[in-house]
Amino acid sequence: MGRLAGKVAVITGGARGMGEANVRRFVAEGASVHFTDLLADEGETLAAELGPAATFSRADVADASDWGRVVEETERTYGKLDVLVNNAGIVIRHLIEDMSEADYRKVIEINQIGVFLGMKAALPALRQAGGGSIVNISSIAGLVGRPQTVAYAASKFAVRGMTKVAANEFGAANIRVNSVHPGPVLTPMFQSMDQSVRNALTSQVPLGRMACPEEVSDLIVFLASEESTYCSGAEFVIDGGMLAG
Ligand code: NAD
Repeated sequence: MGRLAGKVAVITGGARGMGEANVRRFVAEGASVHFTDLLADEGETLAAELGPAATFSRADVADASDWGRVVEETERTYGKLDVLVNNAGIVIRHLIEDMSEADYRKVIEINQIGVFLGMKAALPALRQAGGGSIVNISSIAGLVGRPQTVAYAASKFAVRGMTKVAANEFGAANIRVNSVHPGPVLTPMFQSMDQSVRNALTSQVPLGRMACPEEVSDLIVFLASEESTYCSGAEFVIDGGMLAG
């Protein structure tokens, strides 16, 4: 039996990168997954490939009305909601002196407000299901402040903080909330960065390489499953040792 057999999950940003790896892995572990993204073609194609255990909805994590619709679709299609993975995110890298206010607000809107709206929208359904697990994808940028990450780090520190607040507020309803802090992971987001930035980041990893998205999915499956029933409010670093030295 799969490690997520019988569970119903919502995964945001599931059309590519880490989100796609999570969708594939959750289905392989027996979950039903309603996943969202702005990339409709990629999302529809992935859902068609995976069959009835996966459905796709085009939805913007920064839009509260989209969130209401996504939770309603999930309960209508699969009968309940057990797991929310707030994965969708963007990065815009500039020094503080070069960062526009518009770009700063855009990163906060998606990476920070999106996670807030997701937890708020999912809470009644998770309560209704008798409990569940929320996994919020932060970053090592939610733990340390590297140059050129002012907006991204602000959003990812916020995700880490909101996770702890939510763990306190939702614990009585048997809802666990944890944050995940990956180092460099080989996804379209990472590939969109300058080669010099990618080389610099990877050179700081003791294991000497980037993570594959599937290695992060292993951790997210653990946090979504019954294997982590006493984990809540915690930070799970998955960085090849990057922050160790
Ligand atoms: P990615 O760009 O490959 O995938 C992110 C997905 O989110 C895309 O499909 C994108 O269309 C979607 N998305 C963006 N804005 C959205 C919105 N407003 N509403 C819905 N979907 C939206 O990135 P990834 O590397 O797979 O990143 C996934 C998560 O992991 C992000 O939160 C990112 O910050 C975090 N992260 C990535 C790395 C890395 O090195 N790749 C490291 C640490 C943390």
